[in-house]
Amino acid sequence: MTTEMKTELFCLHCGRECLHVITYVGDQLKRVRCQQCGTQIEMDRKRIIETYTTEVIDRVLSKPHRITEEIRKDLSNFIKSFPIRIITKPLRVAREIMEVIKED
Ligand SMILES: [Zn+2]
Repeated sequence: MTTEMKTELFCLHCGRECLHVITYVGDQLKRVRCQQCGTQIEMDRKRIIETYTTEVIDRVLSKPHRITEEIRKDLSNFIKSFPIRIITKPLRVAREIMEVIKED
């Protein structure tokens, strides 16, 4: 079963909080998509487990009954700490992000 929720989260591409669509498949967070720029992060457990502890992953990827302020903050912090290499999205957007980082 797929569930979609909308909430304001930090977007790596926009560099600010934007409305995101969060997609849960079953009880697991599968993808987060920015409504502003379309950047999509696929939450591939196998890939992110190399970077985060199971505790963090379980907390962030588990489907909440509703999006509370705490969950929203958790997700935004999680996205901010995301290593660029594990974000899957269209190549065009990936290139733009690299350019933004270089400018800093
Ligand atoms: Zn964005």
